[in-house]
Amino acid sequence: MNLNDLNEKIISILKEEEIKEAELEAFYIIEAVMKLSRPMFFIKKRDEVSEQDVSSCLAIAQKRSEHMPLQYILGTQEFMGLSFKVTPDVLIPRQDTEGLVEEVLKQVKPGIKVLDMCTGSGCIAVSVAKFAPNVQVSAADISPKALEVAKENAATNQVQINFIESDMFTEIREKYDMIISNPPYIKSQVVTTLMPEVRDYEPHLALDGKEDGLFFYRKLAKESGNFLTPGGMLCLEIGYDQGAEVAQLLKQQGFIQVRVEQDLCGLDRNVYGKLPE
Ligand code: GLN
Repeated sequence: MNLNDLNEKIISILKEEEIKEAELEAFYIIEAVMKLSRPMFFIKKRDEVSEQDVSSCLAIAQKRSEHMPLQYILGTQEFMGLSFKVTPDVLIPRQDTEGLVEEVLKQVKPGIKVLDMCTGSGCIAVSVAKFAPNVQVSAADISPKALEVAKENAATNQVQINFIESDMFTEIREKYDMIISNPPYIKSQVVTTLMPEVRDYEPHLALDGKEDGLFFYRKLAKESGNFLTPGGMLCLEIGYDQGAEVAQLLKQQGFIQVRVEQDLCGLDRNVYGKLPE
């Protein structure tokens, strides 16, 4: 089978199960298995593909057609230009979250201590540690399996992070200059209506923000003051319709300079607040 035929076959397997962007995903599968760049893919279209590569690509296409996210099949996702291992124990890092990291990187000063609460794959903590090398980064998660993945991601990206297994703040003992969090924020009722890739494969523990989706923001607003130094910052990712409510929660708990920021699509995506000095 030549590369062009293989590509067509993968696309048809994906399209049959209504995978959107089948063409793009077919290329990602070929790229991953055959280590082919986009230009080489076009140059080699008439070349024969080894039987082994054909069967590897088709096996992946088959799994993808069952709506398993490609990132879980291949085991990786890029975030902030770094490579992260992902397993079904962690949420797949989203590009939306890069804005949070970029804002944090603007705010950090050498020597400060930062805590990433609900670290999951560790994408936020690892990127901050990587791009702000003089910052001491800690990262907490309730899930020991997620922490295993995050630890591997810290090691492969060659950064030092202090990992803490903790249900929110229960095991946190120190104070930080900045607390960052992208907590679970989807209403329980809505989780079951999400696309199958998310609903059937991503950990509900990382998605479900309980009844009104605000459970973890309430905790963060209420308790992070005890773990922040005076003037410390709370930096949050939120759902597109949670800006006003989360900003209100922070103000009620004494945070100042509370601001809601939009993502590249113009939707509310982050809330920042500061403790008085
Ligand atoms: N902090 C991780 C991320 O941004 C995990 C988020 C989560 O599990 N809710 O991807």
